[in-house]
Amino acid sequence: MENSKPVRGLYDEPMWKSMESGVLELQRCESCAQFRYPPASHCPNCLSDQTVWERISGGATILSWVVFRRQYFGDHPTPCNSIAVELDEGPILITQLVGTQPESSWIGERVQIEIYTHNGRKQHGARLANRFNPGMAAQSATLRKGSTDEYDGKTPADGRQT
Ligand SMILES: [Zn+2]
Repeated sequence: MENSKPVRGLYDEPMWKSMESGVLELQRCESCAQFRYPPASHCPNCLSDQTVWERISGGATILSWVVFRRQYFGDHPTPCNSIAVELDEGPILITQLVGTQPESSWIGERVQIEIYTHNGRKQHGARLANRFNPGMAAQSATLRKGSTDEYDGKTPADGRQT
């Protein structure tokens, strides 16, 4: 069984490069400031072709999900999940939930987008936020180190909601 291969669009290259450096950057319109995904030549909101690439916060909410029980690629053993998330910046992204899975409904769960290495390539995934899991432990340690505030158990993305 073959491994999956990246599918790269005409305007994707800066996004893949950002993931190589461990963050996810998406296009943002310089005219109306709207983020967009997938990458494109013009803004679908105002048709401007003036674009900057900006790092996203990583905060997102699960809109939908599916668990594949039939294997399609050698590097994606089953069960293999795919989730559609709405980024806090607006765009919808298809990714995988890694780590702990929700105990009940997945829809509406808060996640944090992160970059990890899969099959020798950098790719994005999402981990459940608002609870302890190994991926978030490193982040909380960083928050404690970098801030004089007490760590309150929330991710940076959660902080923006309040
Ligand atoms: Zn625009």
